[in-house]
This record gives sequence, structure tokens and C-alpha cells, in this order.
Amino acid sequence: MNYFHIHTLHDGPQNVSQGWLERALGTEVCSKCYSTLDTASGLDIQIAGNVEDVPLNIAMPVAVGMIRLDLLSAMDEEEFRKNFILGSVLDSSGDVIDDFFTFRGNAQIIIRGGADSSHRICDSCGRQLYHPIGKRYILESSLDGRPLYESQLNQIVANEVAANRLLGDPWDRLRIARLAVAAKPKDKLELVSK
Ligand SMILES: [Zn+2]
Repeated sequence: MNYFHIHTLHDGPQNVSQGWLERALGTEVCSKCYSTLDTASGLDIQIAGNVEDVPLNIAMPVAVGMIRLDLLSAMDEEEFRKNFILGSVLDSSGDVIDDFFTFRGNAQIIIRGGADSSHRICDSCGRQLYHPIGKRYILESSLDGRPLYESQLNQIVANEVAANRLLGDPWDRLRIARLAVAAKPKDKLELVSK
């Protein structure tokens, strides 16, 4: 089975509102690394300014993925909802934006890199913060048969059945890149998860 990283090519991340961020820090979001603290539930966010009209994006600085309804539908919404927990996106007046959702994976997979990849553990929440450098791959041992995972880069890792649903449609500012599956890590890092 082949695997693909589905990620945004948009260079304008969606900023969350300052007021929302101040309320979320320390409760919903780690005040040091901005990772989501409760990974078992969806994260509702309020954005600053207008929503960036792209199919896939990342809300900053909290680094939670955002998906537009048409991409969600194309990916098979039912399967997506089995593998991700969705949250709401509110505009600056506090109204829900119907066409956009945040998403958190039921399972996260780490896209690994080479020996220069960066890795640290947040000393507040304990989350692993890993950024791959060099050729990207996933480890065979980190796969458990599910079709969809959240990458640690807050985007989507999909098996070929799921990724194939998007092929043929010209998605704006979206990249679907094949990931190598490796038996052994090439980064010499001891990660807690596989
Ligand atoms: Zn943290």
C-alpha cells in the first residue's frame, strides 16, 4: 500500500484571534509550544480577519489543521469523521463559518527525515516536536492499517485508496506527495512513538 502526504501549498496561514488565543493558552493550548492539550476532542477556534479560502490550511500559532467543506466531501466525509475529530471555525464576530473545520487525527504519524531533522520535547506539555529535514518518509512500524492519519505537521497522511479520491480534481494550493515507507529510521533519533 502506498501512502501520501496531503498538505497545503498556501503561504498565508490562518491567524487565530488574539483574544481567543489568550483564553485558550494553558487550557486548550500549551502556553509554551502552542500544541493542543486535549487531543481527544475537537478544537474550536476563532480566527482574526477573513478566512483564507484554500482547501487545506494551518491555523497559527496553534498549528491545528483546517479543512474546507469541499475537500472534506471529496475525501469521503464519513471516513474522514471516523479518523479525525472536527472542530468549528468562528469568524471575528463569533459566528460559525459553515465551510471550514479544524481537524485533529485520532492517530498521529510522524513524517521522518534524515540525520539533520530537528527534535525536541516540550518541557511543559511533553509533546514531541519533530521537523523532518531531507527526504521524507514514514516508518512501516507506525502504520496500523487505518486509511487516514494526522501528520505531526498538522496535515493529512492518506493511504492510496483515500488519496486517489482527490486525484483528477485540480485542487488549488494543495499538494499530494507520495511518502516512502521505510523499515528503519534514518534520523538516529529515539522517538517515543513508533
Ligand atoms: Zn507544550
